[in-house]
Amino acid sequence: MIIARSILELRKALEVKKGSVGFVPTMGALHIGHRTLIDAARRENDTVVVSIFVNPTQFLPGEDLSKYPRREEADFKICELSGVDVLFYPDVAGMYGEDEVRICAPDVRGYILEGVSRPGHFDGVLTVVMKLLNQVRPTRAYFGKKDAQQLALITQMVNNFFMHIEIVSMETVRESDGLALSSRNVYLSAIERQEALKISASLKQATKQVMQGNLSSESIRQEMLTILLPLDVEYVAIVNRAFELIPEVILGDTIILVAARVGTTRLIDNVWM
Ligand code: AMP
Repeated sequence: MIIARSILELRKALEVKKGSVGFVPTMGALHIGHRTLIDAARRENDTVVVSIFVNPTQFLPGEDLSKYPRREEADFKICELSGVDVLFYPDVAGMYGEDEVRICAPDVRGYILEGVSRPGHFDGVLTVVMKLLNQVRPTRAYFGKKDAQQLALITQMVNNFFMHIEIVSMETVRESDGLALSSRNVYLSAIERQEALKISASLKQATKQVMQGNLSSESIRQEMLTILLPLDVEYVAIVNRAFELIPEVILGDTIILVAARVGTTRLIDNVWM
């Protein structure tokens, strides 16, 4: 595995590679969720590139940028064992200059749900993903459905800017008790971790209701909110794939999303149906 710490080193490493390139952008503190993205990239491409970059522009003032988990050595090992060919590990100075052009998230879809709690977050996400995609120039890039709105906006950016990259979406990987894997789970105390299970439990109950034929978004939301008590819920939303709120679940075109704080840790999860 080649570790490229600059764009020059990255281009040099990729110059000699032939065939398709699969790319998995991450912020590190890798877990099995990341691993499934890397494994899919490994299966479907000749060369696999993973980036680890904690992108400062997607954190709002007061968010967890400085305490975001960093585990360089363990991450390098995971990448190596997963058959990654090139690990791109740039620093902030290598990624950003002064007074730069930025990508803006769309006015509507970028400022609902996550965009309400975290205004400007998606500008940072889209800007760094644009930079990374232009540096790596992959055939395919892999993203998790866990970050559903992010996935939708990246797909939209790639379409809007006519970028010839296939965006591949991967299912959310969970612990055996239902908790969606997240780098931020390390912030949870044992008691908070138990509390956090209410999030996946509420989504499981929503799925059950839909399977029983209850398609009313409001009644599903109300039941979810009851299960989520006493968590500090930021939103429970039922949207179609275009991220428009819908009064009734449409099978094959619905995402049910939750964002809630457990203690000081903000967690998101969702289910696609
Ligand atoms: P992050 O390092 O949190 O920026 O995540 C990097 C990529 O991994 C994103 O595309 C996430 O959606 C994806 N990801 C994070 N958690 C999971 C999970 N539990 N299952 C599947 N993919 C995930």
